[in-house]
Amino acid sequence: MAQKGKIFVVGFGPGDFKHITTRAVEALQQSDMIIGYKTYVELIQDLVSAKSIVSTGMTEEVSRAQEAVRQAEAGSIVSVISSGDAGVYGMAGLVYEVLIELGWTEATGIEVEIVPGISAINSCASILGAPIMHDACTISLSDHLTPWNLIAKRVEAAAMADFVIALYNPKSGRRTRQIVEAQRILLEYRSPDTPVGLVKSAYRERQEVTMTTLAEMLEHDIGMLTTVIIGNSSTFFYDNKMITPRGYQRKYTLGEEKQPLRPHQRLREENEPWAMNQETGTARNDFTADPNAGRFNKPSIAVTPKPKKTALEMATAALAMVKGTSAVKVTPKLVQQKIESIFELAVSPGVANKFFTPQQMMMLAEVVGDEGTMEYTPDHQIHLKIPTTAPEQITEKLQEVGFLLAPIGDVLSLKACDFCYGEKADSIPYAEEIQEKLGGMSLPKTLNIGFNGCGMACYRAVFDDIGIVYRKSKFDVFIGAKPVGRTAHAAQPVVEGLEPEQLIPLITDIIEEYKANAHPNERLFKYFKRVKKILHFTYQDMSSKIKVEPAPCGD
Ligand code: SAH
Repeated sequence: MAQKGKIFVVGFGPGDFKHITTRAVEALQQSDMIIGYKTYVELIQDLVSAKSIVSTGMTEEVSRAQEAVRQAEAGSIVSVISSGDAGVYGMAGLVYEVLIELGWTEATGIEVEIVPGISAINSCASILGAPIMHDACTISLSDHLTPWNLIAKRVEAAAMADFVIALYNPKSGRRTRQIVEAQRILLEYRSPDTPVGLVKSAYRERQEVTMTTLAEMLEHDIGMLTTVIIGNSSTFFYDNKMITPRGYQRKYTLGEEKQPLRPHQRLREENEPWAMNQETGTARNDFTADPNAGRFNKPSIAVTPKPKKTALEMATAALAMVKGTSAVKVTPKLVQQKIESIFELAVSPGVANKFFTPQQMMMLAEVVGDEGTMEYTPDHQIHLKIPTTAPEQITEKLQEVGFLLAPIGDVLSLKACDFCYGEKADSIPYAEEIQEKLGGMSLPKTLNIGFNGCGMACYRAVFDDIGIVYRKSKFDVFIGAKPVGRTAHAAQPVVEGLEPEQLIPLITDIIEEYKANAHPNERLFKYFKRVKKILHFTYQDMSSKIKVEPAPCGD
């Protein structure tokens, strides 16, 4: 009996050898016959040793698929090739259609293997930067096999829902109006400044890349080999790259670049109040309704309300409906899903001062307003989260009333005691100097320095990452407390009776060593336990006597 035939449907990626998969190369090398469009067959010719190569014209896709099936049924191993991915406007579906027509089933028929490839949406995106990132779709503007009205509907739906859109087959010698019409529809929903990337012949010899905007994209060359990537309403250009952020909200703190939410902060209602409630399956309305109502009302799809129609307009519209013409004028419905920036910071009355003044409380209420939140934390601070694009105005007002401001996150915070309401004031200048020199420094993980003004250490400095206790005009230093969890324990004393002028250099050295060598997210006690030595201080195991099953967060 002759050998059993097989069909590989191979996506060979954008067109260079580095972006073709190993499986695709294997398939091509195992094949007795390669079938594909001339240009593509030429592109991969050097990779294959097939005895027979059938290259056909662009429009002969059905006959290509039929030929492949015929040859495989006669016992050949055949590769049908598509550029990009064969399952994206490629040959995969066609091959199955031909097989189905012939009554093929997997159990009884020839073997079929679809070999995936890098589609144009991915290869072009990689060249542009990171424009896809968020929900995206591909739309082919070819109305060769698909009614234009359906394509137009899809463009409109994608525009309305703020998808990033990759337009395939945007234009050819004979099809030139489609892209013009697509732009018109998109401009009804998206700003004319929306970033657009045009990539022609990605990863091929004649690669061309153009960064433009929705309004101006038609002024550039767009052809058969171009993919047009249209950003969503938060996509931006940066340093000649097109970037779509991962989400619609970003947080930032004092003196820091805007940051995305960390994984553990996501989906909590207080952080992402627009998310679906897992019990009720509903989402808060105020994110899609009136952008001026409710707390955290943005991000929202701010659809401009339709203006009331005049009697004449209504009559004309009614007439148009009766006549079956659609002369009704469309009102622009700009989708604005702009990123909301939430400014976060911590406030306290001072390093040693624990008293708030009425003016401070009133100022807090003013700057937080209806849209922000304030939260009292275990670290004697109030955390503020305020949607704003003008953080300086907020910090100025808070400083005017004497607040001490600090960033939030993986930073160094000083937690001092009240120095017995200022009675034991000798060491306060040292605390203030630490705050000034090191406070807010960004570190691999949160680090609290507890600073207590006498041996009572009643603000529990020895339970902070670094504890400093002033006693008999000198300092005792503790490091490596595990401040949280069921296996929490105090720090180990590393220095007793340190001369005051040596305090800040020592603390600075400890922190610099930790900052330079710790893993990201590794708190000081974990780092100490791992490396066993910080400066000349040797780690002592303070935790092994605690016998309790570990219970990580959430368990
Ligand atoms: N199967 C292919 C798509 C075929 S449709 C894939 O997955 O990529 C043909 C369209 O794909 C072209 O009109 C163009 O929009 C896009 N395309 C294919 N290869 C491309 C490349 N190297 N650079 C840019 N666009 C490409």
